[in-house]
Amino acid sequence: MAGKQWTAEEDAILAKEFALGKTREEIARVLGRTHIAVGYRYRLLEDKLLLEERKKERIRQLEAKSVSPQENRKERKCLCCGKMFLSHYSMNRICRKCRQKRDLGLPDNMIFDT
Ligand SMILES: [Zn+2]
Repeated sequence: MAGKQWTAEEDAILAKEFALGKTREEIARVLGRTHIAVGYRYRLLEDKLLLEERKKERIRQLEAKSVSPQENRKERKCLCCGKMFLSHYSMNRICRKCRQKRDLGLPDNMIFDT
């Protein structure tokens, strides 16, 4: 019972006919194969689809994770100059400009607001 190779077209027909509610026997007749071969092939297809679905789910989860560190990103008021600035985490309360000034001891006109 080492049937011939399944083509992509046959797989497509199989998936479609099954979705339409056809029995294995009916699909077997359409494809010229045994219902056992059809049933076996369908199980393989199903496994493949399930695997792909899981892979997609995994990617979705990873993407969600990679986005979450940004959640804390919002406009906060600088404790130093009182201006609103884009803070990347909740403990970040001093704007870039003030930090540069503090760290480098530079005068105002030497600070570049980026
Ligand atoms: Zn500031």
